[in-house]
Amino acid sequence: MKIHKDLSGYAGTWCPGCGDWAISIAIKKAFTELKLDPSSIFVVFDIGCSGNMNDVLNAYAMHSLHGRSIPPAVGMKLANHKMQVVVIGGDGGIFGEGGNHFMHACRGNHDITVVVHDNNVYGLTTGQVAPTAEHGFVSKSTPEGIIEIPINPLSLAITSGATFVAQAFAGDSKQVTELIKQGMEHKGFSLINVLQPCVTFNPVNTYQYYLQNIYTMDSKHDKTNYEQAFKTATTMNNEKYPLGVLYQINNPSYHEQVKELTPDETLLERQPYGNWRELLDEFV
Ligand code: SF4
Repeated sequence: MKIHKDLSGYAGTWCPGCGDWAISIAIKKAFTELKLDPSSIFVVFDIGCSGNMNDVLNAYAMHSLHGRSIPPAVGMKLANHKMQVVVIGGDGGIFGEGGNHFMHACRGNHDITVVVHDNNVYGLTTGQVAPTAEHGFVSKSTPEGIIEIPINPLSLAITSGATFVAQAFAGDSKQVTELIKQGMEHKGFSLINVLQPCVTFNPVNTYQYYLQNIYTMDSKHDKTNYEQAFKTATTMNNEKYPLGVLYQINNPSYHEQVKELTPDETLLERQPYGNWRELLDEFV
């Protein structure tokens, strides 16, 4: 099979048919359609199959430790709040190892966009169960079926204080692009949870499964209504997955409330360090 190489000169390494291909295209399209210069974007990749996009994206970027992609993104936004800051990770890294970071970034309403490749498994390590897998999901790490109930990314984000919460399906790259653009234009914390079939290690949540269990919210859904958004999010527990923007409100983001970082002030990274030598000597 001929693998397409993009301008980076590298080809993606995802399995043929993996939802990550479509998400990768959607992310690049979103950046392009927003007319963002690569030098104005900072992306933090978590560990996982999703992180392999690091090789084929032209932007400032770092590959974090597993589950720790959100803290450097928050730090980057505080250091230079003019940058567009995006986190790309899987449901394992973001809701498992990094679950605490996720909740606290939501409640701080940090102005970053988190794109989750939600495939219910740890694909890179060959298919162990991840936090969004349904109760009873059988994997090599849970041969008798998982005992825990799944994390619901949407209701977790809404109740933790996120101000933009959306869900998309990797089978519809156009929709993923549109929601990422809206999330990046939103001022405050945005989550785009992408239902992403892992064709190699998840025989349950397939493209066919999602096509039978997703629905796009219509205009009756009031995305500014907290109770309605929560109720819609929790219909996932009946195996129906809403797509679109579930929740969006305008609250000041974290950096907008820090006096030293108000838009008219100098960027934190440009401010004088003070006597850093003295501080360094204290620790070294
Ligand atoms: Fe995609 Fe799964 Fe293959 Fe990873 S293991 S590249 S998530 S299909």
